[in-house]
Amino acid sequence: MPHTSNYIDSQVAILYASQTGNAESISYNIYEDAVKRGFSASWHVLDDYEKFKFNELRTVVFVVSTTGDGDPPDNSARFWRVLRKATRSNTSAYSHLRFTILGLGDTNYSNFCNTAQRLDKQLLAAGATAFYPKGLADDATGLEETVEPWIDGLWPALAQVAQCSQQDVDQATDQLSKLDVSTDAQEPEATKVQISQPLLLDFQHMAQLTSITGVPRASAPVCSVVYVDEKSPRDISSGAVDMVSCPPWYKDLLNSNCNDPSLTPFISTIVSAKQITAPEALKRTLVMDLELSDTDSQHVKGCWRAGDAFNIYAPNDTALVAAIIAKLGIKAHDAQRPLHLEKKDAKMELPAHLRRFTTAAASIQDILLWSVDLSSLPRKPLLRALAEYCSENSDRQRLLYLCSKQGLKTFEALRAHMPTILDLLHAFPSCTPPPERLIELLPPLAPRSYSICNAPQMDATKWRIAFNVVEYELEIEDPFSRSEDSSSAAPALHRVSRRGVCTPWLEQLAKSGSKSRILVAKRPNLNAFHLPALADIPQRPVLMVGPGTGVAPFIGFLEQRFKELQQSADAAPFTWLFFGCRSSVLDYLFKADIQQFVDNKTLSRLSVCFSRDSDARAQLAAEKYVQDAMLKHADEIADLMLNQNALLFVCGDAKGMGKDVNDALATIVCMYAAKHPHIIPSLLESLPKSKLPVDLDASQLSKAQALQVLMQWSVQKRYVRDLWA
Ligand code: NAP
Repeated sequence: MPHTSNYIDSQVAILYASQTGNAESISYNIYEDAVKRGFSASWHVLDDYEKFKFNELRTVVFVVSTTGDGDPPDNSARFWRVLRKATRSNTSAYSHLRFTILGLGDTNYSNFCNTAQRLDKQLLAAGATAFYPKGLADDATGLEETVEPWIDGLWPALAQVAQCSQQDVDQATDQLSKLDVSTDAQEPEATKVQISQPLLLDFQHMAQLTSITGVPRASAPVCSVVYVDEKSPRDISSGAVDMVSCPPWYKDLLNSNCNDPSLTPFISTIVSAKQITAPEALKRTLVMDLELSDTDSQHVKGCWRAGDAFNIYAPNDTALVAAIIAKLGIKAHDAQRPLHLEKKDAKMELPAHLRRFTTAAASIQDILLWSVDLSSLPRKPLLRALAEYCSENSDRQRLLYLCSKQGLKTFEALRAHMPTILDLLHAFPSCTPPPERLIELLPPLAPRSYSICNAPQMDATKWRIAFNVVEYELEIEDPFSRSEDSSSAAPALHRVSRRGVCTPWLEQLAKSGSKSRILVAKRPNLNAFHLPALADIPQRPVLMVGPGTGVAPFIGFLEQRFKELQQSADAAPFTWLFFGCRSSVLDYLFKADIQQFVDNKTLSRLSVCFSRDSDARAQLAAEKYVQDAMLKHADEIADLMLNQNALLFVCGDAKGMGKDVNDALATIVCMYAAKHPHIIPSLLESLPKSKLPVDLDASQLSKAQALQVLMQWSVQKRYVRDLWA
């Protein structure tokens, strides 16, 4: 394999790993731009590494996101295994590779951009060279802030290592648009459309500008449609949800040749559903049972365990889709006509989620329902492309302004609304992109994941899930309520209601009463969130921490343990559950089941916290949050973890609880070490030497060292977390 620092490659591979579609669509934009700039580029998802022959690639741009507790996206699980194997003890396995990485993450969660960091470390350790510094984009402050300048800098760096047919790779960046400041570029009228929410955006600053900078260039359309002469598919105008509980092309998915057959999607029937929170509770939590029938789900039989999760393929809201179709001016008959998608340019790839429609016929209505995300946060390439389809100059100018450096504040205000694509189309009323253009601009609609809260040892023929119906209100500062006099009261709040994609749909299916059949697939369990069999850990204590629906997998763990204990002559090992909810009567999920596990001694100890029920707290001497209860029992927890080799599982929200519990655990380790300083040398001994400070003081343990101890527990799989974004 030739390798010299000035070797110029003829090919560039853009590879992505994406959980929610962001990394996919950003990498697709890079790929599109690379081709336009004259690079010979290809674009692939990481798990297709056999197809694109990863080991032979020489110039690669990675765009990878991080999910949960620093985990890589599901569509890179197989790639990681292969990479680990190839690089394990070979420090020159990738010495032929030049790469750069754009990582996407969120600093609200622990292990920021862990996928990008790990990939970087592993490739460098295997001899690869970075041709351009990695970029780490933070969703907490806005991905664009890093993504745009990083992409701007990529082109000249890439031109040093890969052939480019254009002379000036920089040319279209930072373009300047002359602004036609028309008088109507002021406050947009709040459009009152039932399914759409008005966007309150202040464009007044724009009126003072004569030019703007930093507008990305518009991507070129890649899809064209060819109608096929077939009977029209279904009409959704009646809103008959049970008719659309599976995508029309689901049969292709059932036969999809997955490398791990247990992950192949299948059709499952919803056999029961009930609300387990009181009507007055803040959130509506439903428990739903799905049947694993013999024929459909044979490939997962015997292949799932308590602690696994599965994906549900849910459609967008039918009313939202119908409203988009109406807004685009598409006649109902045309929206339902079967069509194929074709590439406009043979050299260009179609976005991955649209490729199936080159061979399978589908209507625009079905693609909008099942294949594209209508509610993901808008990104600048989308707004820039939409600007090309405005018949009114004022709409075009506002969209360009939103993509510019000067329009950043308004762009952030737009994203704070979490608008759907329909909201955008209503905010810029003359914007009417052709439907095939709209679907290629939108990110893919990702399936939604839920933990299985039962165990196959109890009943292998069903999957039970517990989920909150996602409906919430955003409160956005109304920019037009501020009076001239800045000393006046705070600005008024504009309320915007939003709904999730999957859970309101599942609730609607449950309410319809019929046994709906939905498409599901087991999700790869990347972090080994499983309770080991009792026979393998006969006396090992187990701690479980799961507030809210985070308790779901622990119900499965306890079912498994209960069954194993029935078949064992040994005494039950010590098991302790920390659960948290708001009230002792409104949202104490699985209360009866948990009590039964206490009664039958499967669960040795239970600590329940009530965050908004001070009466119950006072009566039961309970704490507010799970981490408060853990701190209260700090000595016992430290003893279990440090002296009794206990296993600790944490499940739930990554952003708040996951971080806070981790912090409390570090405090617990520090407190214990302060009381029992004789353990400090052996604790420090167990840590990797590279992580220890040079001026090591073995008489006390710092918080940073305690966090290292937790890391060691994670590596040893004694502290296992299943954290959800
Ligand atoms: P939730 O109802 O929002 O909260 C449950 C309890 O946790 C409440 O008492 C809440 O108190 C408290 N809480 C809030 N902030 C906390 C913090 N920083 N530390 C500790 N406790 C805190 O819970 P949920 O909506 O069910 O969320 C659980 C999480 O688990 C979600 O991220 C969900 O995605 C994930 N999850 C879901 C499943 C599933 O299959 N559906 C499975 C596993 C995990 P206050 O609100 O009073 O502050």
